[in-house]
Amino acid sequence: MNSIDAKAARIKPFSSTPRTLMGPGPSELHPRVLTAMAQPTIGHLDPLFIDLMDEIKVLLQYAFQTENAVTFPLSAPGSAGMEACFANLVEPGDQVVVCQNGLFGGRMKENVERCGGIPIMVEDEWGSAVDPEKVEAVLNTHPEAKILAFVHAETSTGVESDARTLADLAIRHGCLTLVDTVTSLGGSPVLVDEWELDAVYSGSQKCLSCAPGLSPITFSARALEKVKNRRSKVQSWFMDLNLMMGYWGKGRRRVYHHTAPVNALFGLHEALLMLKEEGLENAWDRHLRHHLVLRDGLASLGIEFLVRKDWRLPQLNVVRVPEALNDASVRADLLKYYNLEIGAGLGPLQGDVWRIGLMGYSSRPENVLLCVGALESLLKTCSALATVHKTLENR
Ligand SMILES: *Cc1c(COP(=O)(O)O)cnc(C)c1O
Repeated sequence: MNSIDAKAARIKPFSSTPRTLMGPGPSELHPRVLTAMAQPTIGHLDPLFIDLMDEIKVLLQYAFQTENAVTFPLSAPGSAGMEACFANLVEPGDQVVVCQNGLFGGRMKENVERCGGIPIMVEDEWGSAVDPEKVEAVLNTHPEAKILAFVHAETSTGVESDARTLADLAIRHGCLTLVDTVTSLGGSPVLVDEWELDAVYSGSQKCLSCAPGLSPITFSARALEKVKNRRSKVQSWFMDLNLMMGYWGKGRRRVYHHTAPVNALFGLHEALLMLKEEGLENAWDRHLRHHLVLRDGLASLGIEFLVRKDWRLPQLNVVRVPEALNDASVRADLLKYYNLEIGAGLGPLQGDVWRIGLMGYSSRPENVLLCVGALESLLKTCSALATVHKTLENR
């Protein structure tokens, strides 16, 4: 243990630094949210906290536009929200139609397999929306399929798929929908009741602008019926909705399941309250407005979008790296000289695109201006920059 002791003795308190966060998440937190999270921790069964949990449920119903009674934040990140939806709804042998048009659809496939289900894939290219005609053809040839799973807002490509149309198809074919709204919720319309979505999950750290680590989920009555009528127990004890609802669903009679992340939920409460104060429609408009300014600014630099116009997500702008620039070194320079984070491409798009997020509190005019201005100066000086680096290093 001597070497561990010595290593541990050298560690200093961690000090974060304010950055402009314009990647694919996390987004920036409003000072009100940070302040809320710094309040004294209280017990998770304290009546004060139980009232806060009930208010969070109401605010989430507002964000999701749903009257679903089962609407609450899972104590884990968006990836766990995905896993919880599959773990509760999919039983061994179930056929699940999975749409894949980017990274996250691939994770859905993996989840179906791990639950013992049979994924039936509908594939579209990275950068395209899910094609409803392909989905319909697959639903027609697989009448036994029980679930249609798709990603509403593909963060790996910046593409929005038509959730309303896909949900209509599912309903006509007697399927439940399982929908990823991690990047859409709070940034563009997610109308759970109007579109009749069934199992929907999201994340705290994207357009809700809260700290990472929470996953709002909502289940329709139809989805709960399927969970209740399972032949087998939900394989995951932690994610079993029946058990979790004893904690989140019973007001002051709630029973211990796990210890909720108290301070993280202080933050979510404040972030959701701010969304309600702004108004959902105003938030959607704001995301769209700032996207258009960014688009025009980037266009003036000759930087092009990967995705065609009608599929673009305003909160996540995926653009091609200009020929003259090196992907990784530009991102490193943005961080070093401008304190600005943007995202890299994933999978087949790695090195070819940047993912510029304008999510939640990060979707502000000054962020758009900073990003366009910084890219402009890097473009103008790219040949000279190598020299600058050398000079700085030799100082
Ligand atoms: C970010 C993201 C997730 C995962 O959320 P984490 O909080 O990183 O676990 C899932 N789906 C989509 C579409 C995402 O953008």
